[in-house]
Amino acid sequence: MSKYSNVAHYQDFNELLEIMKNSNNNYDTRKIQKAYNLAEAAHGDQRRVSGIPYILHPTSVACIVAGFGMDSDSIIAALLHDVVEDTEYTLDYVRKEFGRDVANIVDGVTKISKIKLYSREEQQAENVRKMLIAMSNDIRVIIVKLADRLHNMRTIECMPEQKRRDKSRENMEVFAPIAHRLGMTAVKEELEDLSLQYLDPIGYKEIEDALSLRETERERFIERKKKEIVKAAKLPHSNLMVYGRVKSINSIYRKTYMRNKSIDEIYDIFALRIIVDTVQECYNLLGVIHDLYNPIPNRFKDYISTPKPNMYQSLHTTVIDKDGITFEVQIRTWEMHSTAENGIAAHWKYKLGFTRIVNSKKARELDENINRIKDILRAQIDADDSTDIIRNIRNDFDQHEVYVFSPKGDVFSLPEGSTVIDLAYLIHTEVGNHMVGAKVDQRIVPIDYKVKTGEICEILTQKDSHPRRDWLDICKTSSARSKIRQWFKREKRDENIVEGKMMIERELKRSNISLDNEQLEELLQFMLKKNKFNTVEDLYASVGYGGIQLWKVMPRIREEYNTKFKPEEDETPIIKQPVQARKRRITSGVTVEGMEDCLIKFSHCCNPLPGDEIIGYITRGFGVSIHKRSCSNIPVDISTAEEPERYVNVRWNDEVQDSFRTTLDIICTDRTGLLADVTIALSSMHIFIYNLITRQIGGGRALITATIDVNNRAHLETIVKRLISIKDVEDVKRY
Ligand code: MN
Repeated sequence: MSKYSNVAHYQDFNELLEIMKNSNNNYDTRKIQKAYNLAEAAHGDQRRVSGIPYILHPTSVACIVAGFGMDSDSIIAALLHDVVEDTEYTLDYVRKEFGRDVANIVDGVTKISKIKLYSREEQQAENVRKMLIAMSNDIRVIIVKLADRLHNMRTIECMPEQKRRDKSRENMEVFAPIAHRLGMTAVKEELEDLSLQYLDPIGYKEIEDALSLRETERERFIERKKKEIVKAAKLPHSNLMVYGRVKSINSIYRKTYMRNKSIDEIYDIFALRIIVDTVQECYNLLGVIHDLYNPIPNRFKDYISTPKPNMYQSLHTTVIDKDGITFEVQIRTWEMHSTAENGIAAHWKYKLGFTRIVNSKKARELDENINRIKDILRAQIDADDSTDIIRNIRNDFDQHEVYVFSPKGDVFSLPEGSTVIDLAYLIHTEVGNHMVGAKVDQRIVPIDYKVKTGEICEILTQKDSHPRRDWLDICKTSSARSKIRQWFKREKRDENIVEGKMMIERELKRSNISLDNEQLEELLQFMLKKNKFNTVEDLYASVGYGGIQLWKVMPRIREEYNTKFKPEEDETPIIKQPVQARKRRITSGVTVEGMEDCLIKFSHCCNPLPGDEIIGYITRGFGVSIHKRSCSNIPVDISTAEEPERYVNVRWNDEVQDSFRTTLDIICTDRTGLLADVTIALSSMHIFIYNLITRQIGGGRALITATIDVNNRAHLETIVKRLISIKDVEDVKRY
């Protein structure tokens, strides 16, 4: 493992201080020291499996994080990342002592650790997605997690073989691709090489041996090229760095074993990297290289003008020298180099530096830059075709979705605004049906609690508990709602059957249809096949529960009755006047479009008169009620009504001879004999008076309210005219 052998497995706090000192960052050393003290106290005598004091693990992770150039909060979170999980200190305590950001990072790292990363394959993509989601909250979460994982891999030797292999697969399928996406190439390559070592020890060894066989050869070759390039470049030495690039074992492995090439066929085993100060110098040097050696066609790539989605920038070219040796050259600036190695973490480094000199404009630019990177990462998920993991996952960061974890680390996605009820039914119908409450992040929450991304939710159940009807109004998803309905449908079946049968019978009775059980069942047979019911009881249950809405099907049931059951000799209309109708109260006079002989009722809220513009409303069990179109109970725009299909067109029949009751308000200057004058006027027109009330309304005026029978609108207008002509009557209004 020549490439990584310079990395000490464990680093202590002094080394962390040293790394911090050598960086240009302005760290909050006091706070970091405080975090270390807490971690040290919290982990106490804990030891790792290897026997090494536990505190050295978080300290080493903090060193890696500091090495990326991350900020104080990231280093503190790294020091504390196992404290909440493994010791008695709580997240609240961390929040109180170190602030919200640190607590959030620690919490995020802990949560990612609980996600089952390597489970069934089809869940893999889902889990990766969740990690990305968790990451998008605060990207430092994933950076600390990667450092944690990297350190664990460096020290995994003493773990059982199965565990090493499991972790290695997770790295290959989840962590390395994420590191790649974040542009953290150094982490990606080290994770991959460490993992390959455990996944295919023999293949790994073969490549390692082959490389070391060529090591002297390679070193000599690179030394020679270095001299040629530096000489031709004509740049001051301090501005130019040329070195041999060691390709990662995993990438050679992939090329040799998966593309079936021999090591000698791989161009970039011999590779040079040139680092300069400016972009201008990059392109100048490219010219120099292409002068010195022959470029191989189609191997030139300009990632400076077109950066890779993970921010990577460099010029790549493959050339062949006069000895016939092919090699790759990469040219980049120092800034590009930093980004190429540490990716997104490098941007924190710059951000820190600039924040320190309080150049807020530059800091803002970098913030925008980081946001842009996040956007690119999101977009890349669609574009990437190199790994299947993230393919076909669209709308990854759909903000209308929330992601929550079960205490075991399973992840569930729900539409925004979903409650714990929705979650319970998503987990399992039985969980929902026996839910008694829920805990979110260990706290009991109300049943209408809306879950948020990243929360750990636990549904509390009890064997004998069952859904409540008000859940139907609380839950957000239609699937939860239909499952709750299902429960009521199933559990209350007997009640529903009785209720449904009663409803149908009641409705038929209104149409003067009376059938015995057998006849009723026969009548309803036609409904069964259509609705996929096996028995009439199923139909009753559905009606009783509301799965079938009676007002929708009654017309067809009546029709069926008319064609099949209606006694031929009986020619009288099926619909008869309601028993309670008053003598003078006539119920016809209106035609309902598409329905003949249906029960009609004039609404009491607006008492429509012939000539008024009217509309019909199909009631539940009381036929069609007729309203004035302008009635305040009727929506102006029917299409916005809750059940627009219940509104029907109705019209007055041409010759309405019946009378209709209406109420008039007669406003007048009060005087003796006025009421008598009004009464005389009405009776002289042969108007039937139901009711007449007079009361003072102040200012010497009176209000007479008269409820009378009129034939139609024209008749009413005549009456009003006559009343207004009475002395001292000021106004007559229809009530
Ligand atoms: Mn750890």
